[in-house]
Amino acid sequence: MSDEPTLPTSRVRARGFESLAVHSGQIADPTTGAVIPPVHFSTTYVQDGIGGLRHGFEYGRSGNPTRTALERQLAAIEGGTHAYSFASGLAAEDALLRAALEPGDEVLLGNDVYGGTYRLISRVLGPWGVKVRVIDMHDLDVVKASLDERPAKIVWVETPSNPLLKITDIAGLARLGHEAGSIVVVDNTFASPALQQPIGLGADVVVHSATKYLGGHSDVVGGALVIEDDELADKVKFLQFAVGGVSGPLDAWLTTRGIKTLALRMQRHSENASAVASFLSGHERVAKVYYPGLTDHPGHDVAARQMSAFGGIVSLALADGQTARRFVESTRMFQLAESLGGVESLVNYPDEMTHKSVRGTELAVPEEVVRLSVGIESVDDLVADLDQALAIL
Ligand SMILES: *Cc1c(COP(=O)(O)O)cnc(C)c1O
Repeated sequence: MSDEPTLPTSRVRARGFESLAVHSGQIADPTTGAVIPPVHFSTTYVQDGIGGLRHGFEYGRSGNPTRTALERQLAAIEGGTHAYSFASGLAAEDALLRAALEPGDEVLLGNDVYGGTYRLISRVLGPWGVKVRVIDMHDLDVVKASLDERPAKIVWVETPSNPLLKITDIAGLARLGHEAGSIVVVDNTFASPALQQPIGLGADVVVHSATKYLGGHSDVVGGALVIEDDELADKVKFLQFAVGGVSGPLDAWLTTRGIKTLALRMQRHSENASAVASFLSGHERVAKVYYPGLTDHPGHDVAARQMSAFGGIVSLALADGQTARRFVESTRMFQLAESLGGVESLVNYPDEMTHKSVRGTELAVPEEVVRLSVGIESVDDLVADLDQALAIL
């Protein structure tokens, strides 16, 4: 494995989130002066004599300058020490879980985390002796009782959660987790670091599906880990190299480009989602709206404390499963598709799409629930689209 890359660092002294997002890891090309660093596709690097590496780069799996630039940017925007970029969110999760766990260890998991996270822990790592305990993570009394009963190596939370937008108090959870000797992991995919920074609130690790808001344009699959602890970071770095689930250069570059506009996008996603949530709340055909920005949301106060805006995901419940299915097939600007976090609005039917793998488990999503990923289009067009789809139910 190569040494730490020793690329020069940017001369820009940035503190604010937007400045860090634009400048971290971005150094004008020293040969040409190109403001945007080139995408490095090379898989291997010339050695000046055996082992004479220039800036620590040796082979594309162990290190790539475009990936290093992204990893520096990720660490800066999450306020963390170490960051690692992977080929997908699940590849990142897999590296973290294998770095932190041994056979017999247990993961304490929120009951509405991303279905693929549960599938990875229970069905891939389960046969290797990893155990999983699923609880209502947003209720800290439940967390405390569970950890008092039996410790867990990892406490894993998503807040806001997918798709029911439950909110967990990250600082409170981190305290409880640390008292019990657990590693506290926050999947920050839904909020993104533009709205919420878990490490500053006490979390040990931040997980991302960069496929969603970080990339932001539905054109790249990627994942990331941001880690505070040096020892855990070393183990993850070793697995990134030894297992090889790295992001490719173009994927890394697209993610870096996405991150530069993250703050602007999250602001507009949040404004549009707030307007959509208000519209839906007042609609007679909508049984329930799940959005942490609504003052009657049970997690509203905690969300207002730990997030700078409430994000772009809104879920709603209709009368029943059949009505929900008709609705998702009736919207036009909200396109029916999996995934979320892109500039274009999407609608998803969790029970049969994103969360099909957790049907019949403790993580099952009610069949009348629909999830909206509210894009950055003109808000009047978005509301009009929802209005026409509700009208023909
Ligand atoms: C999509 C998603 C993942 C998985 O990421 P991939 O990039 O699809 O592998 C993990 N967590 C959350 C919250 C997600 O939305």
